[in-house]
Amino acid sequence: MAYLGLVTPAVAEWRTFGSEILGLQLIEEGEGGVARFRMDEADCRLWVHPGEKNDIGYIGWQLTGEKEARELGEAVAAAGSAITRATPEEASARCVAGYYWFTDPAGFRHELSWGQYVTPNSFLPGWAMSGFRTGEQGMGHIVLLVPDLPAADKFYREVMGFHQSDCIRDGARALHFYHCNGRHHSLAIGSPGPGVRGAHHIMLEVNSLHDVGKAVDRCELLDVPVSKSIGCHTNDRMVSTYIFSPSVLRVEYGFGGVEIDDLWEPKTYSRTSIWGHKELRPDLPPAMIIES
Ligand code: FE
Repeated sequence: MAYLGLVTPAVAEWRTFGSEILGLQLIEEGEGGVARFRMDEADCRLWVHPGEKNDIGYIGWQLTGEKEARELGEAVAAAGSAITRATPEEASARCVAGYYWFTDPAGFRHELSWGQYVTPNSFLPGWAMSGFRTGEQGMGHIVLLVPDLPAADKFYREVMGFHQSDCIRDGARALHFYHCNGRHHSLAIGSPGPGVRGAHHIMLEVNSLHDVGKAVDRCELLDVPVSKSIGCHTNDRMVSTYIFSPSVLRVEYGFGGVEIDDLWEPKTYSRTSIWGHKELRPDLPPAMIIES
């Protein structure tokens, strides 16, 4: 995952949340009231656009190059989703050399990009933290809620080419996890019910466990809800906490996720966490719902 665009009525809150809680670098020159954030040498990783409702605007994936993006775009088109090439102006607005975009059968916009703009040695975190684990593993992961789980699973694996990492089964409910690089998962999906579309969280991985604890302290100081206590996941072994963002979408703030390779064999788990991750705020909406 190279970049992400959120839409929310709470852009003003996001400016403080992104920099003061998450430690992202706020870029001031966003056009049209957009808040933009950096988290490493990439010129921009997160856009927060003003809008009426909370939504996922777009998910940017990085392909090796233009040829690979075009080939994947052709595969997506062959599967029935119309593909469009961004104009040079549109690509430049995302800080990439180019991208193709389409809307997947679940209703999410994906951008197949190449040539992300970078400025080495230029990241300044919003508070004194150790920075983010990105590089080859991209910016983190996103967990989407899809209206039809088997259909989305088939599309992300067979059309987009994600590899299955794991499945967590909790009774009749299932969560599917997918990788496309060394990160255990860049994409995960679940389905709270037929027709429901939304997103549960995005995950950003920091370079020090202390930053996870310090972020929890900062949440208390700045009155931001922590929705799950610090815990460790069964599948990617991430030690993390869940912070309630101004757009309901949680931000999993984690450290120490496993790195996987081509020999990884998908596993099945019966629980999401080895320890911790206790629900602290059952009073808050459980996920960002876009359509239901
Ligand atoms: Fe996660």
